[in-house]
Amino acid sequence: MAKWEENVRKVVPYTPGEQPNQPGMIKLNTNENPYPPSPMVEKVLHEFNTDKLRLYPDPTNGSLVYALAECYNVKPSQVFVGVGSDDVLALCFLTFFNSKKPILFPDITYSFYDVWADLFRIPYEDQPLDENMCIRKEDYMKENGGVIFANPNAPTGVAMELSEIEEIEASTPEVICIVDEAYIDFGGTSALPLIEKYDNLLVVQTFSKSRAMAGSRIGYVFGNERLIQYLNDVKYSFNSYTMDQVTLATGVAAIRDDAYFKETLNRVIATRERMKKELGELGFTMPDSKSNFLFISHPQVPAKYLLDELRKRNIFVRYFAKPRIDNMLRVSIGTDDEMDRFLACVKEIIASA
Ligand code: PMP
Repeated sequence: MAKWEENVRKVVPYTPGEQPNQPGMIKLNTNENPYPPSPMVEKVLHEFNTDKLRLYPDPTNGSLVYALAECYNVKPSQVFVGVGSDDVLALCFLTFFNSKKPILFPDITYSFYDVWADLFRIPYEDQPLDENMCIRKEDYMKENGGVIFANPNAPTGVAMELSEIEEIEASTPEVICIVDEAYIDFGGTSALPLIEKYDNLLVVQTFSKSRAMAGSRIGYVFGNERLIQYLNDVKYSFNSYTMDQVTLATGVAAIRDDAYFKETLNRVIATRERMKKELGELGFTMPDSKSNFLFISHPQVPAKYLLDELRKRNIFVRYFAKPRIDNMLRVSIGTDDEMDRFLACVKEIIASA
């Protein structure tokens, strides 16, 4: 090891889901929306005046902050916007998790949490999900340096009752509690109304799933004005121009098209419910998902075998080689046609296994 390497900040990075680009593939591995963004986004892109790119964007991301505040009926001072919820969450870890006591999150959850904790040298303790893959609220009611969990959780898809979230929140007034609501629109109950009651609560959401704009990288967080101010202080100490002009304009257009948002959301939910039934008939078990993916396991066919066989048929799903979940596959909900092809292949694989 070279001498200078002693002072390198060494980290084990997060492994993002694979982004294959095969003709005719069915991509069900990173929970993207199978439908395009709102047609209003296309209109904005078509009419975009490229002279705007000469200038730096608004560092406050004002237009998007205002559009979100209007849509969710909060004050602009209660909203912070970033480059995907990954960016927003990372900044939240950096800003709010500075205790010597460990932060708490589930053992099976979004696998970026422990990576950020390691990057920022934040001590953490993971809390096991119960045998039904549910978060046990009691595990978060002890002394800690902060709490974060995803609702619905990933990769399980299981949602918590709002009353349980409030119990956790109420029991930890001296630390920051972050609810990662990346999948909330597909069926969970948002903790957003609780920000008026609890000044230590942050609710993070994203355009990547329900608004079909993973490629634009827009995430946002709602919270008490003081929390948002602290986040802005850190942001301006790191990178003040986070969002580009095009993304700001398309983000505003997407947020304003509520009818399209609801229509595509309902289509994904209907397909998910049909898939639960059809996969159940094939013998699969799965936690009850309120998200845009299913976390499935078959009593006879190992998950890794299914993953490889599906891949041979140009269908991509996600597998985690981790304790407790290494016989499960996370399958994003695609269009009805995509899911019918997926089902046909799964039937064929089971029959020949
Ligand atoms: N939280 C959870 C639970 C996720 O699954 C993801 C997406 N992989 C994210 C946050 C980050 O999403 P994005 O950065 O695209 O908003």
